[in-house]
Amino acid sequence: MADRDVVVVGGGPTGCSTGVFTARYGLDTMVFDRGNAALARAAFIENYPGFPAGIDTETLRDRLHDHVEEAGAALVSDMVESVEETEDGFVVETQEGRTVETRYVVAAAWYDGSYLREILGDEAFQKHAHGGETYEHFDPEYADADGRVGVEGLYVAAPAGERNAQAIIAAGTGAHVARELIADHRASEGYPEGVRAHYDWLRPHSEFTGDWAERERWREWYDSETPDDADDDRREQYIDDAFATRRSPEAVADLRERAHDRLLEHIDDDRIRAYLDDEVV
Ligand SMILES: Cc1cc2nc3c(=O)[nH]c(=O)nc-3n(C[C@H](O)[C@H](O)[C@H](O)COP(=O)(O)OP(=O)(O)OC[C@H]3O[C@@H](n4cnc5c(N)ncnc54)[C@H](O)[C@@H]3O)c2cc1C
Repeated sequence: MADRDVVVVGGGPTGCSTGVFTARYGLDTMVFDRGNAALARAAFIENYPGFPAGIDTETLRDRLHDHVEEAGAALVSDMVESVEETEDGFVVETQEGRTVETRYVVAAAWYDGSYLREILGDEAFQKHAHGGETYEHFDPEYADADGRVGVEGLYVAAPAGERNAQAIIAAGTGAHVARELIADHRASEGYPEGVRAHYDWLRPHSEFTGDWAERERWREWYDSETPDDADDDRREQYIDDAFATRRSPEAVADLRERAHDRLLEHIDDDRIRAYLDDEVV
């Protein structure tokens, strides 16, 4: 038995986004984060949607880390040094001597692919000369657009060329690769093609009115998407899962209040005081 379902290497925008999606799906996820970070090099981020006046990199990182943990993943400050393939997954080894067995690995460290050398070999690395020395780095075009590298269970969300070049695109790439991993996982659990993609959505009551309030309408839809011999129990489970995403207006109001409280935790107390004292311009 693996210790974890998913190990994510890197806790920047790419890796945190991956970890939020895999953990929220219910996969036991561990995110390692230590080493060179692009985000820490930025002076200030002014183009991450949702922050109209921008966001400083420390607050963005802390909020990303907070979100990973809120989603149920373990966030560990340690550097991954190697990943080796086993019969049913991978063994991940870290700088501080941790050894973790896992079914899936997602590489999400933009500046570091060295820990993949053993598993992917020469062809995944490029050499370049500088100042008389030869350097090697992970080929940013090695993975395909879905993060696949030809090794079952291993995905690369970073380095992934231009897809990591801006923080919001990096976050989107991490989420996309997580969805691919989840779809592969669902395939291995017997979800037929057509319903493998997982939608991490909460739905208001209005989505379950009219025909769609009835299980029969969902069955019709499911049957139209899947082969004739698809398993009925799987279909009923799928419909149960869809109905479990339903939220009443009162539940949404509660979620909103808690979400605002959690945002306040990331705002300096003196800014909150200044705002309450009407000193913010
Ligand atoms: C000078 C500069 C300014 C920038 N300004 C902006 C900007 O204004 N707006 C914008 O959108 N983007 C900006 N960017 C780009 C932005 O920083 C990146 O798009 C984004 O950080 C990429 O996220 P990432 O998670 O892929 O990589 P990173 O941010 O590098 O995160 C990777 C994480 O993995 C960790 N890590 C590395 N190796 C390992 C390992 N072996 N094991 C465990 N953990 C590991 C690192 O510590 C790091 O926290 C800027 C970048 C630079 C360099």
